[in-house]
Amino acid sequence: MNAPTAQPALGLLLDVDGPIASPVTRSIAIPAITRDLVALAAAGVPVVFNTGRSDAFIRDEVVGPLIAAGLPAGARVHGVCEKGASWFSIGPEHSPGGMSEVQVDETLAMPADFAAEMEQLVADEWSDLVFFDRTKRAMVSIEQLTTVASAAYLARQRALDEQAMEALVRRGLGVRRLDDVRPDAAGEVQWRVDPTIISTDVESVHLGKDRGAERALELLDADGARPLAWRTVGDSRSDYAMADWLHAQGHEVAHVDVRPADGVPSTPYPVLTSATGAIHDEAGAEFLAGWAAQLLG
Ligand SMILES: [Mg+2]
Repeated sequence: MNAPTAQPALGLLLDVDGPIASPVTRSIAIPAITRDLVALAAAGVPVVFNTGRSDAFIRDEVVGPLIAAGLPAGARVHGVCEKGASWFSIGPEHSPGGMSEVQVDETLAMPADFAAEMEQLVADEWSDLVFFDRTKRAMVSIEQLTTVASAAYLARQRALDEQAMEALVRRGLGVRRLDDVRPDAAGEVQWRVDPTIISTDVESVHLGKDRGAERALELLDADGARPLAWRTVGDSRSDYAMADWLHAQGHEVAHVDVRPADGVPSTPYPVLTSATGAIHDEAGAEFLAGWAAQLLG
């Protein structure tokens, strides 16, 4: 394709779980979301998904629906997964299934022997509560079974997190979990245990939504001009890191928070919330429809 030389008016950097995929079904449940994403991408709006999920999850839950909805060749659509550790391009010109080959930054991957130990630990001691996500290439993610009640999961999550921290410390590695910091002998911390309400991620401290934003810009620099302004969209406090990073790099950005009940922090850029009070993917759908109406008439 010929890279467009004009700068697009808008670029979108999107968290997936929450604003795009329903937090209940963990799939795109609102057809207008797929329709408007395709329309915006077809009009030249760069769209980058920035998620902690694996490429396999995005392939099944996002790429498939976009290709089925007619995403055209040459659209500037990319996936950045595992908080910046892996990435690929999306479109019908890529194969198989509309996805280019997945790239992985191996320097950010968990040690293979640690991942194997955690997988075995889950099988031996925790299989009534969680599953080990075998689709992750860099992170180790252990997720609540959907058959387990949230309160039951959260009551035992800390004990599992402790075992993950001990497994890293035993290897002479530095690890932190929130404000519990256990540096290595040199005072360094390489790894992070990040508990969420449905999972625990163990990952490089260099991974995060800011890292994903940086990767998104690299992908767009390779296929065309940078957008004049950005909208970042997310449902967690950690998603603000996308806008923090873009703003710090001098880009014009506003962040859409689709779950502002946690409280909206004070930021040096605008934070947008639904005018109708919509949350989760209903708010995501509302903003996408608004941008489509604004840009496509
Ligand atoms: Mg989310």
